[in-house]
Amino acid sequence: MTQPWHGLINQYRTFLPVNEKTPVITLNEGNTPLLRAAHIREIIKEEVDVYFKFEGANPTGSFKDRGMTLAISKAAEENAKAVICASTGNTSASASAYSARAGISCIVIIPEGKIAMGKLAQAMIHGAMVIQIDGNFDEALNMVKEIVAKYPIVLVNSLNPFRIEGQKTAAFEVCDQLGRPPVYHALPVGNAGNITACWKGYKEYMAAGRTSGLPKMIGFQAAGAAPIVLGHPVAGPETIATAIRIGNPASWKGALAARDESGGMIGPVTDDEIIEAYKYIASKEGVFCEPASAASLAGVIKLSKQNYFRAGDTIVCTLTGHGLKDPDIALKVSSEPVRIKADLAALEDTLKGCCI
Ligand SMILES: *Cc1c(COP(=O)(O)O)cnc(C)c1O
Repeated sequence: MTQPWHGLINQYRTFLPVNEKTPVITLNEGNTPLLRAAHIREIIKEEVDVYFKFEGANPTGSFKDRGMTLAISKAAEENAKAVICASTGNTSASASAYSARAGISCIVIIPEGKIAMGKLAQAMIHGAMVIQIDGNFDEALNMVKEIVAKYPIVLVNSLNPFRIEGQKTAAFEVCDQLGRPPVYHALPVGNAGNITACWKGYKEYMAAGRTSGLPKMIGFQAAGAAPIVLGHPVAGPETIATAIRIGNPASWKGALAARDESGGMIGPVTDDEIIEAYKYIASKEGVFCEPASAASLAGVIKLSKQNYFRAGDTIVCTLTGHGLKDPDIALKVSSEPVRIKADLAALEDTLKGCCI
């Protein structure tokens, strides 16, 4: 890179709804690594090229920062005093960080039950007002929609069109980093803002002559929270992948359009398949993502078993968030540390047959 990176609004300004009066609220998000999978042949037999777009490398540890830099910059432009979101965790982490930087109050409504500890910690330390309801994400989002209809508070869920505008830049980066669009782009699908945004990005980049083609968009929902796959809302969504535990996605139509216009698909992956991919990505590829993120690769592995891909296909998997947000799950699916006395002989004994 020849020029220093100043965040994605500065990088992709001509593609974004900003003007010289927009205060740019940035944490230098974007420009995340695109990593070629090094050991994929161990699990996928076809000669495909798999890349990971590691969005966990964003400032608050998820792709949500791409949408939030724009949503909060626009809120600041409008002199908003407060923003609000419903969140399974990462939206609140991102909203609270960017709001802190902008000097805007942030209210986050989180569902009952498991919110990954790291995400909750982020919202708390950035000074957001955190409110937990005894209801699920879909109920939280409905409440938030009613509040913004009544009071001058800006909604920063992905129903806010600026969120989608910012998030589309992930597609620009993939084209820039790869030198072309991939044949397939795989993503986890929760509220479906990201698949909607990436597809928009690919189309706009091609229309501007920056890239020469379009990928097929393939999205994956957790089997216990798969409304788009089933074709109807799910009342009690359940999955270990809390970031995609959503039963009635806000961008449902956008996801269907991305799927159908691109000639892709949206399918289910089980929690076991998600955890298998999650462990593979960390233990073989050296990348620690959160469980929901691994749904993208889990889906690709599943499709490869059905001979969905052809030799030579390039597949980009978005890894949406950082694994450190949810260390409990990493510990739960790993074996316990070996315990020995503080004694050299005991250590040598333990290492025998493995490394010495
Ligand atoms: C938000 C989120 C998702 C789901 O993205 P949508 O745009 O809601 O479909 C997936 N993974 C992680 C880590 C997220 O934070």
